[in-house]
Amino acid sequence: YDMNGHPKFRSKKNGDFRFYQDNVKVQFTETHVKLESLAGSRRKNRQRLNWIRLAEKNRIPVRAKYTNPRIAFDGERWWLSVGIQTSRNLKPLRGLFFAYKKRRHIRSDGIGIDLGVKDLAVLSDATKVRNINKTRAIRRLKKKRRRLQRQVSRKYQMNQKGESYCKTSNLIKSEKQLLRINHRLANIRQNHVHQATAAIIKRKPSFVCLEDLNVRGMMKNRYLSEKIQEQNLYEFRRQMVYKAHWAKIPVIIADRWHPSSKTCVMCGYVKKDLNLSERMYVCPVCGNIIDRDFQAALNLKYYGEAEQMKSAI
Ligand SMILES: [Zn+2]
Repeated sequence: YDMNGHPKFRSKKNGDFRFYQDNVKVQFTETHVKLESLAGSRRKNRQRLNWIRLAEKNRIPVRAKYTNPRIAFDGERWWLSVGIQTSRNLKPLRGLFFAYKKRRHIRSDGIGIDLGVKDLAVLSDATKVRNINKTRAIRRLKKKRRRLQRQVSRKYQMNQKGESYCKTSNLIKSEKQLLRINHRLANIRQNHVHQATAAIIKRKPSFVCLEDLNVRGMMKNRYLSEKIQEQNLYEFRRQMVYKAHWAKIPVIIADRWHPSSKTCVMCGYVKKDLNLSERMYVCPVCGNIIDRDFQAALNLKYYGEAEQMKSAI
């Protein structure tokens, strides 16, 4: 609504289209959702409107209070978001809870995780999570996107009449295609992070230790900032934290100034002027030669062990 209390006009033509209604009643079952005020019609397609299937079973708690329903259209799909009020001891994922119950009898190592630009993550157990952006599927999609972007901007120029644009149906079609590619890229990246974080949890580490990303500092570097966004480093950390929480695995975030990649794992020497281009670490004191990212992961693991000792005392 505007200042005078009149409803504000919102165009359906603009891609981003969202609204919310307080009088929508949302109802969930394990597999479906129902929007009551929207689905009240008695028309023939009412069956389809009444219950909408959820993408994931069991993800949303059933007996909870739902607040703030918001409905949004991103140009391709409709999204519904709600706030959920539940009691604290409600377990969101049954599978993970049982995994934890079994886990308690197994003592295992912690895992240090070095997040980076070359690989998404290098782990202290000498495994890696690859950078999905280097795969052929992604590179092909990005190429396609560039072509479409050029096409769209060319069509805009062609259809320009003075100050206004005229959107032809072809232009609308290209824009839709572009949107779909962007969603697809985002989905592939998101899925990759989900799989990686789930795989780490599955190894049942006694803790995980990540470094506190100095993202603000890295964002100043334009090349790095693009890579960080592509890699979903934020998202990796977010998922790691909540999945570990569900599996009752402690998460240790190393101090931002902890020199995880500059410290020699063999002798503890700290190399102050370590260049980002030096992929192998060569220690001038003890002669240790080791992959830089792997060493960082190891140092994070030791950091985590030390922190756990501290909290045990
Ligand atoms: Zn050394």
